[in-house]
Amino acid sequence: MTDAELASFVSSLPKVELHVHLEGAMRPALLLALACRRGVSLPASDETGLAEFFRFRDFEHFVEVYLLCSKCLRDPEDFQLLVEDFLGEQERQNVRYTEAHLTISTHLANGANGGEIADALRESIRRAEKERGIGLRLIADIVRNVPYERADQTVEWALAHREGLVVALGMSGKEESPCDPFRSHFAAAEQEGLGRVAHAGEQTSAADVKRVLEACRPQRIGHGIRAVEDPELLDELVRRRLPLEVSPTSNVRLGNADSYDAHPLATLYSRGVPLSINTDDPAFFGTTLVEEYLHAARMLDLEPQGVAGLARAAVGHSFLPATAQAEIESEIDREAARALEALGE
Ligand SMILES: [Zn+2]
Repeated sequence: MTDAELASFVSSLPKVELHVHLEGAMRPALLLALACRRGVSLPASDETGLAEFFRFRDFEHFVEVYLLCSKCLRDPEDFQLLVEDFLGEQERQNVRYTEAHLTISTHLANGANGGEIADALRESIRRAEKERGIGLRLIADIVRNVPYERADQTVEWALAHREGLVVALGMSGKEESPCDPFRSHFAAAEQEGLGRVAHAGEQTSAADVKRVLEACRPQRIGHGIRAVEDPELLDELVRRRLPLEVSPTSNVRLGNADSYDAHPLATLYSRGVPLSINTDDPAFFGTTLVEEYLHAARMLDLEPQGVAGLARAAVGHSFLPATAQAEIESEIDREAARALEALGE
């Protein structure tokens, strides 16, 4: 299969995405429009300048960009514009279902109304399901390095807006900050039957993954690539079937992997660690889910069947009900068979 044929195969393959931040999916054109509505001044006045501003120097700079984009989201319509632009892009790439992070506490601190945001997002999501046949659910994430009371607000918002909207509690932020203070928040989510995911072992070490596993009992780990440094932890992930959400370009752009060649994806894959492929912050990193699958195919030297296997794995790691999972899995199988037949394989 040529590179062009593989790219076309990946584009037409039905996919799900499990690790993407709505704020990090704000494309420069939308940022310009929202900043204008909000009267927020930007460091550049056109898309090219903003794309340059998005070229990250380090995690601190990344946070600066993230907070600037968040500042442009205030009214329910702002969130609708963001989510509708995002869903259009997911549809274009054949992403049938997405679980996306939203850092609701940042928006509440900026003066947004949590109930109104939830109603607006739910309406956009319903419309996308009806008109485009694609799904979206949210992960409300706690930020490890901001005041603890914001975590209380996050859990409260997540539990109040589960119906047709929130599927999980998440955790993000700087790994140097302890995860232990959020033990009770994750316990509350578990008790209420809400899903749990957490970023860990992206920036620091395998030890962070272990600490987060113990304190938060997540069902998936965001990134977790540092687990590769600890063979016993890798065995545990395999044994417990605990999936990592891997985003190769994010890791390279933020300096958490030196290059695609030096990225631990191949080691994790060959050890049998369950994983999915994701964009993390597609607008900030100038990537798409299709491109991330193509990076993964190159890094793992995969044929189309292997790529379809990655797509299937992500479906299985989602919080979708079993019947909906089975439906997307059979669509993946049909598309993979159709593409291979067309190639005469
Ligand atoms: Zn992330």
